[in-house]
Amino acid sequence: MFAIKVLINFLLYNNPGEMETTSEVSLKDSLKRVFGYDNFRGKQEEIIHNILDRQNTFVIMPTGAGKSLCYQLPAIVQEGTAIVISPLIALMKNQVDQMNAVGIHARFLNSTLTKSESNRVKKDTISGIVKLLYVAPESLTKEENVAFLKQATISFVAIDEAHCISEWGHDFRPEYRRIKDIIGQLGDIPIIALTATATPKVQLDIQKNLSMDGAELYKSSFNRTNLYYEVRPKKNAKKQLIRFIKDHKGASGIIYCLSRKKVEEIAEFLRVNDINAAPYHAGMESKERMKNQDGFLNEDIDVIVATIAFGMGIDKPDVRFVVHYDAPKSIEGYYQETGRAGRDGISSNCLMFYSYNDILKLEKFNKDKAVTERENARFLLEEMASYADSAICRRKQLLHYFGEEFTVDNCGQCDNCVHPKEQFEGKEMIKLVIEAVGQTNERFDINHLAAVIIGKNTQHVKSYDHDKLDVFGKGKDISDENLWRSVIRQTLLHEFLKKDIENPSVFKVSKKGQEFLKKPYSHMLSKDHEHTAEGDNEEDTDRIPLNVSAYDKTLFGILKKLRKDIAHEEDIPPYVIFSD
Ligand code: ADP
Ligand code: MG
Ligand code: ZN
Repeated sequence: MFAIKVLINFLLYNNPGEMETTSEVSLKDSLKRVFGYDNFRGKQEEIIHNILDRQNTFVIMPTGAGKSLCYQLPAIVQEGTAIVISPLIALMKNQVDQMNAVGIHARFLNSTLTKSESNRVKKDTISGIVKLLYVAPESLTKEENVAFLKQATISFVAIDEAHCISEWGHDFRPEYRRIKDIIGQLGDIPIIALTATATPKVQLDIQKNLSMDGAELYKSSFNRTNLYYEVRPKKNAKKQLIRFIKDHKGASGIIYCLSRKKVEEIAEFLRVNDINAAPYHAGMESKERMKNQDGFLNEDIDVIVATIAFGMGIDKPDVRFVVHYDAPKSIEGYYQETGRAGRDGISSNCLMFYSYNDILKLEKFNKDKAVTERENARFLLEEMASYADSAICRRKQLLHYFGEEFTVDNCGQCDNCVHPKEQFEGKEMIKLVIEAVGQTNERFDINHLAAVIIGKNTQHVKSYDHDKLDVFGKGKDISDENLWRSVIRQTLLHEFLKKDIENPSVFKVSKKGQEFLKKPYSHMLSKDHEHTAEGDNEEDTDRIPLNVSAYDKTLFGILKKLRKDIAHEEDIPPYVIFSD
């Protein structure tokens, strides 16, 4: 349709100066009038045209890229109501408030509304006043709501945070799986799926689940050039943290911790060290939590110490640092959380404290999960651990994880590039790894491959007769299994191997790998970091803060005791309040 309009304009005017179509003019006009922006960002305009052409659309862009506008604007300029499916009540409310503030009729439908409020929303939608209707997946799938939606004129359905559809992502929401079925009942309605976290596997899963194989894909780079990535061993982490924050005096920053207990503890620790910090986690009174969040947004609070419950939909442009005090559960989570730094484009720091102990702790949380879920969680964790251990450019690793190739040798913006680790000639080892993958028929994971290479006769190895392979034990001169695992990971990162999309823990030989085998050449590898299992131990955790008054000392003592009484628990993101 758009192409036809261009053609008509061309025929009418046949003058390149007049080529701008009416739709382009009015889109830009609406962009300025409604949102106050002069220009589209990245691929926003193309995406909007695709939606206006009633095509299925798949948008993969990093956090902060401006995905919301991609459905908000076409919703406004079209007849009818656009349905926006969003996983968090807080996100919905934010966007609805923002839209209402600029005079756009947006409403939400979720479990927080009273009967009469939701009836009102439905009435306004059916009468066509509502341009954007935000719906929780749980509400969408309710029968009475399906009946209501059948009466409305729906322009398109936007599925925000679409990775929630995939078990292989980090935020799986079973209700998301029923969305397609419901949309199908409403008629032939275009779908736009949006996410910031699609590994190739998750991407495929989203496409399959929404049956949108033919959808136009708009993917922009995940490279955040202004972010400096750094991982440090978690030793004396508190002391390091204080120094780090004091180097960013007065700047806004977020510290992520794994548990609520840790959040409280670190927030208190920072406060007694004269840092203007406050906690945020889902276990707090909601009033207190909102107060701290607002305080952070309004610059009354410099540092927010939080669980992962904090941040989704929060749009503070000048966050100068994000610290992971504990290792995150997945690279997706890490990328999203670090992505909250430097949205204004100014250089910002992402620091993670890492010890293998954290990974072991996280593994414990998974033990009660169902088998697939547990395996997936373990896979995500292993990826996280290898990221933290690796001596390769952090940026290269992150981008590789999201299916993007980064070929710059030295990014100049990560610890591994700025302080390179010792290198060694990897030609023979790489060759052996590729051979091992080939001879085991491209069906095994890193542990199995390492075992075969060093000649470890495990039950698993024997059961496949892999002890009879030519490569079996060929690498036994270097008996360090960790080193081999690191070489395997690097062989992958340098694209001699690739991952099976369906089963990402399985390695395959890439084209580059096949070429290499035919004619091996010199290739340097890096020595990984040695992060031992010892990290912060209790002693360090309980150490009295650096500069503490007598009063604070007592307080600290009380707090310490209190902490011991609270059971160690994983934080639960606030979206559980949906279950109605
Ligand atoms: P995402 O959903 O991709 O994480 P958002 O939709 O929340 O990102 O947008 C991030 C920020 O970018 C918001 O403050 C938004 O107002 C702003 N933004 C979006 N599009 C534009 C644009 N064309 N020009 C300027 N700012 C924009
Ligand atoms: Mg968004
Ligand atoms: Zn780098």
